[in-house]
Amino acid sequence: MEFFDSLIRDVSLLTEPLVKKEYAFSDSELWQDVGYSQVILQRDTASELDGTGFNLVTSSPVEDGIVVIGDDLQHIEGKRKFARISLVQIESEEDEQKAYNLIRKIEYVKYHHFPDGYMIRTSSRSHKEAVRVSKTAVKNGISFQKIGSLLINKYKENPAVKAVKVIFITDPAADHAELENMAQKNNRITETLNHIMNSVTFDCDTCNLKPICDEVEGMKELHFKNAGMNR
Ligand code: SF4
Repeated sequence: MEFFDSLIRDVSLLTEPLVKKEYAFSDSELWQDVGYSQVILQRDTASELDGTGFNLVTSSPVEDGIVVIGDDLQHIEGKRKFARISLVQIESEEDEQKAYNLIRKIEYVKYHHFPDGYMIRTSSRSHKEAVRVSKTAVKNGISFQKIGSLLINKYKENPAVKAVKVIFITDPAADHAELENMAQKNNRITETLNHIMNSVTFDCDTCNLKPICDEVEGMKELHFKNAGMNR
């Protein structure tokens, strides 16, 4: 599974010059998951994060951990640009259909975790991610390490997930426009995979997904193989 590896390299290049804090994943320091979508009212709000959130799935090695670039949740007041990127290492899977199903299952995690006092607005069809953090959660010691550990724990409920690194970016100096472009490209790759795995008919000359197939190695071959055709 290498379709997202060039984006992982792009994320690494973008974040390389920025100041980072790195934390270990700790399953004894998880932030509480309340199991349902909470509503945090404006008057109870400590901060609002607005930006992108996306997963990049790979079978290349990833180290478990949480990376924070910019202020942590205890030090943000009001509105702030934000990004959350999860690098998810899965078992190497020869069967493309299984690998594709796994990507979809991993995607569910982003809108099926409910940290206490950390209201996430996202959808299965969008790379946008907005978060509202409550004053009570700040008082109770919420941090990206604890939120990240909760998220990693959720991904790891799937036994095929080997390791996860979650990167939180709140540094205004980060190139958030470029992060948005990466999130959009990630969506286009996923959309192309959806098409490839669910459609046996194709005409590359008229296909609106051709730019991604031309750019990402192995996409066209996968569609031809999946459609039972040799090139
Ligand atoms: S292989 Fe051709 S038809 Fe299939 S998604 Fe890519 S461009 Fe479209």
